[in-house]
Amino acid sequence: MTADHRAGRLERVRAALAERDTDALLLGPSADYRWLLGYEPPGLERLTMLIVSAAGDDHLVVPALEAPLAIEHLGDLGVKVLAWQETEDPIALVVGALAAAGSASRSRLAVGDHLFATFLLRLQAAMPSARYTTGSVVTGPLRRIKDQAEIDALARAGAAIDAVVDRLGEWVVPGRAERDVAADLDVAIRAAGHEQTNFTIVGSGPNGASPHHIAGHRVIQPGDAVVIDIGGRVDGYCSDTTRTLVVGEPPEGFAELYEVLRTAQAAGCDAVRPGVTAASVDAACRDIITEAGYGEYFIHRTGHGIGLEEHEDPYIVAGNDEPLSPGMAFSVEPGIYLPGRHGARIEDIVVCTEDGGRRLNTTSRELRVLS
Ligand code: ZN
Ligand code: ZN
Ligand code: ZN
Repeated sequence: MTADHRAGRLERVRAALAERDTDALLLGPSADYRWLLGYEPPGLERLTMLIVSAAGDDHLVVPALEAPLAIEHLGDLGVKVLAWQETEDPIALVVGALAAAGSASRSRLAVGDHLFATFLLRLQAAMPSARYTTGSVVTGPLRRIKDQAEIDALARAGAAIDAVVDRLGEWVVPGRAERDVAADLDVAIRAAGHEQTNFTIVGSGPNGASPHHIAGHRVIQPGDAVVIDIGGRVDGYCSDTTRTLVVGEPPEGFAELYEVLRTAQAAGCDAVRPGVTAASVDAACRDIITEAGYGEYFIHRTGHGIGLEEHEDPYIVAGNDEPLSPGMAFSVEPGIYLPGRHGARIEDIVVCTEDGGRRLNTTSRELRVLS
C-alpha cells in the first residue's frame, strides 16, 4: 500500500465522519485498521488504538514495546504515536488525544466493531457523556467497494485456492480421515501462495449436512459425498471456495440434487450486475432450489462479502435491498443439506463489474466423481 493510498483512505474516513456528525473513529487491531494503515499489529490485552478525528488530528496509542513497529509502518503519514509504559493508563492517553483533537466529553465516537469489550467499557467509564456508535457505520460503506488493487489481490487469492481445488483428488480418498485431508489441505493452501490458511472444512457423508463442520476423525467411505470449503489469505485478502466431490458411486438421488444446486449457483452468479439488490441474488439461487423441493434444506444465506475479512459487507441475504455496485466482492454459495445423509455446496467469489459478475474461482462445477 502506497503512502498516497493510505492518506487517501484516511481522508475518506474523515469525510465520512464529518458527514455523520461524528468526532472520531477509534480502532483496535482489525481489518479496518489494516485497511487504513496497511499493517495490523497484534491484538493483545495491551491497548493499541488508532484515533482518526474528523478535525484532522490523528493519534495512535500504542504499548511502548510496539512503538518501533508502529513507527516503521506509519512513515510520514502524520499520525502522532503516543507510547504508553506498562504502568500507565492507556485510556487516559486516548481521552487526552481526543481532547487534543478538539473532542469534548460529549463527543460522538465511532468504535471499531471488533474492539475488545474490556477497552470499550473502560473508555465508556472514562467518558460517560460521549455517545458511541459502531465503526462499521463509517468504514463499511468505504470498504465494501474494492479498488483495483484490492480486486487484484482477491483474484490472486482466488487463483491460489483454485490451484488447491485442482489437486483435491490426491487427498480425498476412501480410508482417509477428514482431519488428515484437512492437514494436507492446510499445507497445500500455504504452498499455493497464501500466507496463512483460514479454514479447511472437510465434511464427508452425513457430516456434509453440517455447513461449518469441523474436520474430525470420520474416515471417508466409498459412496460418500464430500464437501470441501477452503480459504486462506494472500497479501491480507481472503480466498474462499467450496466444491463437493463424490468418492465412488454417488449416493441415491445425489446426482439430481447436485444438478439443482449447480443450476441455482449459476443463476445466482448470472444475476449479479450493478443496480440489482443483494436480496435478488439470494432469490435467484433460492427460487430454483425451492421449486425443486429442497427449499427447507438450504439453511443459510446465499453469500457474504469478502476482502480483508472472510465475512464482511455486503451480505447476500433476503431483506438486504442494498443495490450492488461495481467493486463489490462476495460469495455465491448455495447449499442443500439433508440431515443424516449428505450435503452439497458450490461456492465462488464474484466481483460485481459494470458488465455483470466476474467469478474469481474458475474450477469445474460439474459433479466430480473420484474413483
Ligand atoms: Zn461458511
Ligand atoms: Zn466457504
Ligand atoms: Zn464463504
